[in-house]
Amino acid sequence: CGIVGYVGNDKTVDVLMGGLKRLEYRGYDSAGIAVLDATGSLNTRKRAGKLAVLTEDLAANPIAPGSTGIGHTRWATHGGPTDRNAHPHLGDEGRLALIHNGIIENFAELRAELIADGFTFESDTDTEIAAVLIGREYRSTGDLTEAFRRVVARLDGAFTLLAMHQDLPGVVIGARRNSPLVIGLGDGENFLGSDVAAFVQYTQRAVAIGQDQMVVITPDDVTVTDFSGNHVVTEPFEIQWDA
Ligand code: GLU
Repeated sequence: CGIVGYVGNDKTVDVLMGGLKRLEYRGYDSAGIAVLDATGSLNTRKRAGKLAVLTEDLAANPIAPGSTGIGHTRWATHGGPTDRNAHPHLGDEGRLALIHNGIIENFAELRAELIADGFTFESDTDTEIAAVLIGREYRSTGDLTEAFRRVVARLDGAFTLLAMHQDLPGVVIGARRNSPLVIGLGDGENFLGSDVAAFVQYTQRAVAIGQDQMVVITPDDVTVTDFSGNHVVTEPFEIQWDA
């Protein structure tokens, strides 16, 4: 339901939790984050319930700091509102984390394909299928952007998706179809959000991603392409915010 992504410095957990807080108005039933720490481990924390449940969990047992992360508030459509079904979902044997807004309409057919290929699932969500598919594609191509592009081109329905991989510190990849995604342009850091509210505290310069486009952010670079890999010229705008 609400999405935030960040690459930059050690304030990742604060950026993600602050962004999710500002997206709370959208309504949600669960929340979670994934952060890649300095030792190269991908750590995920996710809880059903209010954001306060996740905040308290993180206060009692902090996640290791890192400079790459994604955060999600969920409004369940496939699978009940439980810790297990909360996002992020994992692929590539826990090395890849993915969050999703929307509904993947052809998830049943894709899940059957993955089950036939020997994969198992931890959740009842449509989302986990995308995480596992991207992981499988990454194993065969060795290129996360290409793997992500191939998979989103196969998905029907509505989605904003963000993914990160433990092999790629400082990289978050996103895509959208029938669901919004906005880039926040920083200085030595960049942001992604389902809404500018996710990052307006840190930057007022933004780029709206078009229908069927994807983006790769690093701390110093933003690259937008279509689902065929063609480069898209972006036009940054200034956010008018009077909160
Ligand atoms: N369909 C996904 C799920 O049920 C995502 C829902 C959302 O947009 O939060 O987990």
